[in-house]
Amino acid sequence: MIIRKVKKNDKVLVITGKDRAKTGKVLKTLPQEGRVLVEGVNFVMRHQRPRKTNEKGSIIKQERPISIANVKIICPQCAKATRIGFVRKDGGKFRVCKKCGAEFK
Ligand SMILES: [Zn+2]
Repeated sequence: MIIRKVKKNDKVLVITGKDRAKTGKVLKTLPQEGRVLVEGVNFVMRHQRPRKTNEKGSIIKQERPISIANVKIICPQCAKATRIGFVRKDGGKFRVCKKCGAEFK
């Protein structure tokens, strides 16, 4: 079972790699791959070939997904990068901030 620690629209802190210490919003989660797409993180240059002969090729900057292991969730309550726990309550599953104990969906 895949535990969905990170969800779309979460704010995360990158803890490793070339974008270490950057923060951004999760645009997309790829649970099958264990990756997330984070706004403004892990930009890769892509060369776009000209489609017509009179068109110039261009370079597009695009975010690429990074491993979930490389990010930490920023708690919406205490605004600190934190580890996440889970609780079952009122028939639902909530995530819990390990630092301040705040529960959130
Ligand atoms: Zn917290």
